[in-house]
Amino acid sequence: MALLKDKYAIVTGAASARGLGKATARAFAEQGATVAILDLDADAAKAAAADLGEGHIGLACNVTDREACNAAIRSLLGCWGRIDILVNNAGITQPLKIMEIEPQNYEAVTDVNLRGTLYMSQAVIPAMRAQKSGAIVNLSSVSAQRGGGIFGGPHYSAAKAGVLGLTKAMARELAPDNVRVNAICPGFIATDITAGKLSVEQHRMVLDGIPMGRAGEASDVAGCALFLASDLSAYCTGTEVDVNGGSLIH
Ligand code: NAD
Repeated sequence: MALLKDKYAIVTGAASARGLGKATARAFAEQGATVAILDLDADAAKAAAADLGEGHIGLACNVTDREACNAAIRSLLGCWGRIDILVNNAGITQPLKIMEIEPQNYEAVTDVNLRGTLYMSQAVIPAMRAQKSGAIVNLSSVSAQRGGGIFGGPHYSAAKAGVLGLTKAMARELAPDNVRVNAICPGFIATDITAGKLSVEQHRMVLDGIPMGRAGEASDVAGCALFLASDLSAYCTGTEVDVNGGSLIH
């Protein structure tokens, strides 16, 4: 049976063709969900939604803009009447050293990764609370757990660590309303976030640090998101799930 039959799901930052969000949106659609893809560009979001098949929605939404988040959710609730799943996937990174981080770097990276996760969650929580059900999945990173070392700078590690704290605090607060909140910590996954930005030597060093000996694939993360979004994980909340090929084993 389809794991997400009759479910309505939102995935932010899911227009990127090779990205984790698009793979997650596809996995959800294949399991019976109706999906909304939110991303910066309306045309790209609509094209990605059309790619999933009939009935899916693409909307422009900058997750750092609170009113844009609220407007997107109002529009989706108008169409669907409910929202079952939110995946806070939109994110950016920058390969900076600690002394290179300027105020605008700090703001850009914390705004999309952390503020965006807060604003989108705040936008869906009232509907999920009223339904007495919902699942929120946040994209953190191994970079939060081990202090970077792959690509993103310290401001990225800090923003993704902030996502973990936010995930756990939301999980505790929303659990009485049967709204579950969990985080995924991907390791090195081959997507456009790092494509062409690592030297051959850097790439080899990253792979040397992965016991499974390969970069992750977007579908590896999508499978974990599907588990956390579905009733298979009905008793999991406040967890951080590693999808890293063994590159960090606690
Ligand atoms: P990607 O660059 O392929 O996709 C990111 C998407 O987010 C893009 O479509 C972009 O347009 C969108 N986006 C950026 N700013 C936005 C904003 N303000 N509002 C809405 N959308 C916005 O990246 P990806 O590799 O698929 O990464 C997805 C998530 O997973 C990110 O949060 C990233 O930090 C995290 N992550 C990725 C890796 C990896 O190795 N790829 C590892 C750990 C964590």
